[in-house]
Amino acid sequence: MLELKRIYWIRQALRLAMAGLTVWIFAGVIFALLANFRKPTAGQRATTVTAIFSQMFDGVLAAVAFPGVLVVVLIVTVLIIQARDVRRRDPVRQFTRQQRREGMARADGQCEMEAGFRRRCSRPAEHGDHFYPWSKGGSTSLQNFVAACSRCNRAKGARIPSPAQQQRLERRRRTYVTLDAVAVGERQALG
Ligand SMILES: [Zn+2]
Repeated sequence: MLELKRIYWIRQALRLAMAGLTVWIFAGVIFALLANFRKPTAGQRATTVTAIFSQMFDGVLAAVAFPGVLVVVLIVTVLIIQARDVRRRDPVRQFTRQQRREGMARADGQCEMEAGFRRRCSRPAEHGDHFYPWSKGGSTSLQNFVAACSRCNRAKGARIPSPAQQQRLERRRRTYVTLDAVAVGERQALG
C-alpha cells in the first residue's frame, strides 16, 4: 500500500512555505522603502542622490536577506525532490494490454474517479490512469491502475492525489472489487 500521507503533506508544506516567503519578501521591500522615506533623523539624513539610494538599498537588503536565504534553501530542496522523482520513474510508461484488460474488468468498465458529492463518476472508462503519477515515480502496475473516463483523466493531470482521495477510492472499491484488490497506488523504489 502506498503511504501517501508523508509524500503529500511534505509537498503541500513546501508550497505553503514558498507562498509565505514570497509574501514576506514583498512586504519586507515595501516596508523598507516606506521606512526610508519617513525615518531619516536630522543627524543622519542623506543629502546626495547616491547616499539616498545607497541607504534605500541597504534597507531593502537587510529586509530580504533572511527570507532570501530561506528561499534558496527551499528551491534546493524542491530541486532535490524533483531529481529523485525522475530517478524513480518506471522505465515502462504504458500499461500492457493484459494490465488494461484486468484493470478495466476490475472496474466493470466504469470510471473509478470521483464525480460531484464524492460519488463515483458514472461515465464509461476509456483510459488506464496512473493513480500515483508516472512522472513523479508512480509504477506502471495493476496496483497503480485506475480506470478513468477522458474527462476525469484530463482533470487529474499529473497531480499527486491526497491521502483522503486515496482512502475514498479504496472505500468505493470495496463495493465493486473483491476485497484483496482494493488498495490503490504504488511508487517505484529510488533506483
Ligand atoms: Zn470519470
